[in-house]
Amino acid sequence: MISTKYTIREHNEARILQEIITQKQISRADLASRIGLNKASVSAITKQLLDDGLITEIGIGDASQSGGRKPILLTFEPHCGVVIAVDLGANYAEGLLSYPDGEVIAVVERKRQPVTRDNACDLILTIVHELKHKLPHTRHGIVGLTVAIHGLVHEQRIGFAPYYDLTELPLAQELEEQLGYPVILQNEANLAALGEYTFASASDNLISISVHSGVGAGVVVNGQLDTGAHGQIGEIGHTILYPGGTPCPCGNHGCLEQYASNTVIYREAAALTGREITNSDQLVAALEAQNEPLAALLKEKARLLAIGINNLVMLQDPELVVINSSVYRKLPWLVDEVRASINSRFAHQVKIRNTRLADQAVLVGGIASTARQFLKVSDLQFENR
Ligand SMILES: [Zn+2]
Repeated sequence: MISTKYTIREHNEARILQEIITQKQISRADLASRIGLNKASVSAITKQLLDDGLITEIGIGDASQSGGRKPILLTFEPHCGVVIAVDLGANYAEGLLSYPDGEVIAVVERKRQPVTRDNACDLILTIVHELKHKLPHTRHGIVGLTVAIHGLVHEQRIGFAPYYDLTELPLAQELEEQLGYPVILQNEANLAALGEYTFASASDNLISISVHSGVGAGVVVNGQLDTGAHGQIGEIGHTILYPGGTPCPCGNHGCLEQYASNTVIYREAAALTGREITNSDQLVAALEAQNEPLAALLKEKARLLAIGINNLVMLQDPELVVINSSVYRKLPWLVDEVRASINSRFAHQVKIRNTRLADQAVLVGGIASTARQFLKVSDLQFENR
């Protein structure tokens, strides 16, 4: 995808930088043999990376492998710059300041903050300003910002966003004018998938399922985010589960999202138990108090989600499906229920598990999104957690 725009030189630079990141410490000779380039090309490219402050020379390598001359080792310089990510929800905003390798510097949260088209830009600027109080000195400073949008995003334009009125708001443009560095807008489920790929998996082909107010998915194919022709490739929340079923804001009836989102789970759990349930903590407490009928309800919700996942697995053939949801994280046996429901001869070999990024997948995906642009490595992947 992005790699088709690369020149051969840029392509080789990206391969060398990724190999240095993967190997942690490596000599120029080893780089040349691993990448299959001649030593002169490797020397020229690593000189440029050194000049740009993206790598450093460290210590002395193992002399036994180079016949007495001790090679200098190269290593990635994670403190070359900093990256900002903001998750812009319908009623919260959260910002993360981090080094490009995901090392956290600072976090800023705005809870119970309704987001509208009138305050979205200022809210993000306020968060960025607060994060800058913790800004360390680095060679390149802030290299960019990625904003997670809970709605469709295609080529920097916000499309249908069911939970706030940001459609067609020129947010990237306004922020770039104010901040003076690149701003990327991306769908939150897509960023979660990018976060899983970059920081928490060894798979090049994976799907991240986000279950929050809605249900969405991000798809990574060969290390690249696949967003489709209109940015809506992972919208499994709007695949139809029941023809003629519950109306959905998207215009269809019977969408998966109307049966398996956390919002629907909380509403039906509250009706069943007579308790106030508007978040996953209250759901867990209700489950502990009145186990059987509520457990059956949740089991059914997992089975419905599994239908959506099964359909997406059949279309995309991933190695791994990761679930990002506070409900599934706090009740991991629900993931077992999903797994048990996906058992066709086609789908049984796909791995299904909870996220290992806690509730940070979207934000670290935002870090990954800007980091790959800054480092010019289109399939950037750091150490697997
Ligand atoms: Zn729908």
